[in-house]
Amino acid sequence: MAIRNIREIGEEVLTKRCKEVTEMTPRVRELIEDMLDTMYEANGVGLAAPQVGVLKRVVVIDVTGEDPHIFINPRIVETSGEQTGQEGCLSVPGKSGQVTRPNYVKVAALDVNMKPFELEGTELLARAICHELDHLEGRLYVDKVEGPLQDVRYDEEAEDEEQEEV
Ligand code: ZN
Repeated sequence: MAIRNIREIGEEVLTKRCKEVTEMTPRVRELIEDMLDTMYEANGVGLAAPQVGVLKRVVVIDVTGEDPHIFINPRIVETSGEQTGQEGCLSVPGKSGQVTRPNYVKVAALDVNMKPFELEGTELLARAICHELDHLEGRLYVDKVEGPLQDVRYDEEAEDEEQEEV
């Protein structure tokens, strides 16, 4: 188990397009383990590899705290509907902003054994998938915020279930 440093907005690694994973190696397995540890340690619901400084197309998401999903080379194959809500990012600490995303997405990816799978998500899971896949393209949610970025007041955050950092 290892916690990696989370890179923050302003660092170049967050602006780059990530490369496909072509084979599962001990190094990629270790990256995935470390990303899960780092996400849980930071109380996030998702994390993309560039957030720990690695330009690979790897994403982890767990919106309930007990249902980790690992996506290698993910791509969104279907979307529908719309949701507008507050979004935050572990790489943009202390801020949140309103972002509109699809309310449903279907994602195709490879699992840790490099086997293809598809997953459907709605609401927060759909939002997290969109947010994390943007990271793989070097995009941050701050460019999609409607209106100003807001400061998160952490004493109130616990009461706001809609506010999740990914
Ligand atoms: Zn993020």
